[in-house]
Amino acid sequence: MPDSKTKTIDPISRVISGGYCVGCGGCAVADPTIQISLNQFGQYQANPSEDSAPKAEASKVCPFADGNPNETQLAEALFSNHASFDEHIGYHIATYAGWVSEDTFRTNGSSGGMGSWILCELLEQGLVDRIVHVGPIDRDSDSSPLFGFQISSSAEEVRRNSRSHYYPIEYSQTIRQLLDEKLTFAVVGIPCFIKSLRLLARQMPELHERMVYAVGLVCGHLKSTAFAELLAWQCDITPKQLQSINFRSKIEGQKASDYGVKATGLVDGKTVERAESNRNLYGSNWGLGFFKYKACEFCDDVMAELADITIGDAWLPKYEQDHRGTNLVITRNPDLEAICHHAKQANRIHLERISIDDTIASQDAGFRHRRDGLAYRLHMEKQNGNWHPNKRMEPGFSHLNKRRRRLLSLRYRMSQESHDAFLEAKTASDIKVFINRMHPISNAHGLLCLSGSRAFIVRVKQLAASTLKRLRRSKSQPR
Ligand SMILES: Cc1cc2nc3c(=O)[nH]c(=O)nc-3n(C[C@H](O)[C@H](O)[C@H](O)COP(=O)(O)OP(=O)(O)OC[C@H]3O[C@@H](n4cnc5c(N)ncnc54)[C@H](O)[C@@H]3O)c2cc1C
Ligand code: SF4
Ligand code: SF4
Repeated sequence: MPDSKTKTIDPISRVISGGYCVGCGGCAVADPTIQISLNQFGQYQANPSEDSAPKAEASKVCPFADGNPNETQLAEALFSNHASFDEHIGYHIATYAGWVSEDTFRTNGSSGGMGSWILCELLEQGLVDRIVHVGPIDRDSDSSPLFGFQISSSAEEVRRNSRSHYYPIEYSQTIRQLLDEKLTFAVVGIPCFIKSLRLLARQMPELHERMVYAVGLVCGHLKSTAFAELLAWQCDITPKQLQSINFRSKIEGQKASDYGVKATGLVDGKTVERAESNRNLYGSNWGLGFFKYKACEFCDDVMAELADITIGDAWLPKYEQDHRGTNLVITRNPDLEAICHHAKQANRIHLERISIDDTIASQDAGFRHRRDGLAYRLHMEKQNGNWHPNKRMEPGFSHLNKRRRRLLSLRYRMSQESHDAFLEAKTASDIKVFINRMHPISNAHGLLCLSGSRAFIVRVKQLAASTLKRLRRSKSQPR
């Protein structure tokens, strides 16, 4: 693999060798000599053929490669005729918070159920032949993935795949199959996947014609397979024995953000289902960024700016108390805005207009990390003389105080180290190996997140507790 600092390297090889591949699969559709496979850390990665360099078309569809238009430029061509622009959320016709009132969409969804509902509408109104989205797959070996892209042709199938699947996925085979079958479709994707599909559609007229709608999910970051495995392992289901996982089950009476995790797998030869609140599971806090792809540290699209409609969680105090979940919705395509409007009039869905400021505030942490934080990470890569993907913001550090810079450096280190630490734990068949390695870093991160006086109190308490423990241990030792 050529060095990322070499000037003659082609754009896509630079992305891959720099560790910025998110494994979407776009390049493998453009150039079938490229294989997408899970690496040792459980992340999909593109693997160019050893016999030939990737085709120029592959670079043209990669969301992180040099020379491609950015999200704002691509969105301008799609939405500027009928939508307003905001630099955080991109083009928009309307911004809403709400949920599905009819049927069981809200109960069965991760949030307010709007994701599955809009897909069912598109199918049932005959606007597309198929839905391409992610759902659980049966494992055929203890190392095969638990989720993958799937093609649904009925509302029933769509609803079977509801909920958020925080798991690595890639779309190359699914998109190739749809193109062979000459079917129209709507696709659900996280922002960078939609970007690569939009770039791909510019290269492939048949895709442009058949990909009728793109439904975007707001995105914090993508996880490796280790996220599912770590959560299940804490419920006594080891990585190899894990059969399925529901990352988001609702807990009555709790806040929407206090959801449960349900894992199914073999324990002592019997299939069991274990449920636990995310609050009790180490690593479930998304702020820690465990198992994050490196690409996600260098991404500035939180709101899926290239999607015809974006769906997320309305993480606002007004809605967070309701355990049933409330969606954030941004419309960009007049067809989808009209579908939502008519359903709202008919009381099939409940949507309230919210301001742009509230829309941004609902993803406050995501924007802080991916605007101010991203500028700092770009600055660090530049200082080290490393190539990094072109972003819509400039590298910089002077906008951040010293504590915030330390916090961001630690968070970046923590997300990257978690991959190696989990592999070490799996090799040792001992989850404690992971926890012992990561706990000091996550603890230091937790202290940095607190204000000065609160951090001091927590530090004193921790010191007192560890001194007490040491004293007890020394007393109980035989003399
Ligand atoms: C990796 C990831 C990170 C996210 N980060 C955030 C965040 O930071 N903030 C936020 O507000 N929301 C985030 N979301 C979105 C959120 O978790 C919900 O998916 C969204 O609110 C839709 O909920 P719903 O009840 O409307 O959808 P549901 O009715 O539950 O339907 C969800 C639909 O999304 C599809 N889907 C699930 N996972 C994937 C995937 N990985 N790729 C493609 N399609 C998928 C399902 O197949 C289903 O069709 C994230 C989602 C993912 C997958
Ligand atoms: S197109 Fe996607 S899979 Fe291919 S190199 Fe780029 S990010 Fe990786
Ligand atoms: S954070 Fe960005 S790069 Fe990472 S998965 Fe989400 S959209 Fe893709």
